[in-house]
Amino acid sequence: MSGDLNPCPACGGRHLSEIYRLDAIPVQSCVLLDSADQARAFPRSALVLMFCDSCGLVFNRAFDPGLVDYASTTEESQHFSGTFNRFARDLVAEIAALYDLDGKQTLEIGCGKGDFLQELVRQTGTRALGVDPGFIPERLPGANGKDIRFRREYFDSTHIDYAPDLIVCRHTLEHIPQVGRFLRDIARLIGARRDVALFFETPDVRRVLAEGAFWDIYYEHCSYFTLGSHARLFQHTGLDVTRLYAAYADQYIIQYAAPAAGRVMPPAADDLADLRKLAAAFPARVAEIRAHWAQFVRRRQGAGKRVAIWGGGSKAVSFLTSNDLGPEVTDVIDINPYKQGKYLPGSGHRVSAPESLQQAPPDTVIVMNPVYLAEIGAQLQGMGLDPELVAV
Ligand SMILES: [Zn+2]
Repeated sequence: MSGDLNPCPACGGRHLSEIYRLDAIPVQSCVLLDSADQARAFPRSALVLMFCDSCGLVFNRAFDPGLVDYASTTEESQHFSGTFNRFARDLVAEIAALYDLDGKQTLEIGCGKGDFLQELVRQTGTRALGVDPGFIPERLPGANGKDIRFRREYFDSTHIDYAPDLIVCRHTLEHIPQVGRFLRDIARLIGARRDVALFFETPDVRRVLAEGAFWDIYYEHCSYFTLGSHARLFQHTGLDVTRLYAAYADQYIIQYAAPAAGRVMPPAADDLADLRKLAAAFPARVAEIRAHWAQFVRRRQGAGKRVAIWGGGSKAVSFLTSNDLGPEVTDVIDINPYKQGKYLPGSGHRVSAPESLQQAPPDTVIVMNPVYLAEIGAQLQGMGLDPELVAV
């Protein structure tokens, strides 16, 4: 705890405590590299997680936005998985049921490759603008038209030339260091209007704190929320939280908000006492879990077993680099064809297609996202493989 540090970016609070520190992790964990050497030489930086006792925000005090380039070849799209597709489609259906968007305007901040926005246009008849510095036009052929437009840039309210009726922001807030300023910029865009809805989807850090899930902590994620700290940020900006719940096996926060009418706070937001306990216990918890997985992998390697990781994204990069794991893990598998043949920053593992496992069958497969366990088990069985299958 210290009074000379920068205040909490969400609430301005100064009652902060350090709960986690890594000296050097890759500054981008979903970037794709063309060679193992390039991947191992990828820039690293420190991560120092602070907990705000006033609002519950967890943030990386050492984060330097200048080190992260979202316009480069990142690969954050999860749209190759069947499970994720169903989840995203259901969310669009939920939004469509809540709001009549036919002929209205939707703005998506951080639209990624634009798949969600395109589905929203298809299901609701809304007109749409997507803003994202990493948008790749070639990946969504024919998408830019009368009803849906994309801009390859960072969100800035002064660049938006219309008043959106719905503002969508998925998996973006965790990348924003100055979250208070970001929300104020959105509030500026809304202005005095009251008939505007906001839909936010953000990773939920509660399970990470409770279970010491260090693989979910990585450099690009500089702001970490729970249901309560997420809602309190909106309340702090003068917005009402109208609907709040955890989804996707409690991995994501789903939150709807609106310009304030009556200072609405759902009961699910009341988690500060619980959060303070989790934050206090986290340093010991995360040390224990890191040691467990390092030992899990090294024991099997020592016994001459092949250990594969399924999921070649940020979780895998963090899992490997936080524990200095290299050749102890023999294979990294991903179903996304855009990742295959590329190399993970830090450890330098090559990402391969599932079929590659048939040539040298693994003894153990560690699944980086438990949500996909059944899907992956079925795929392994379909290839005639029956390894020890565990999820982090
Ligand atoms: Zn705070």
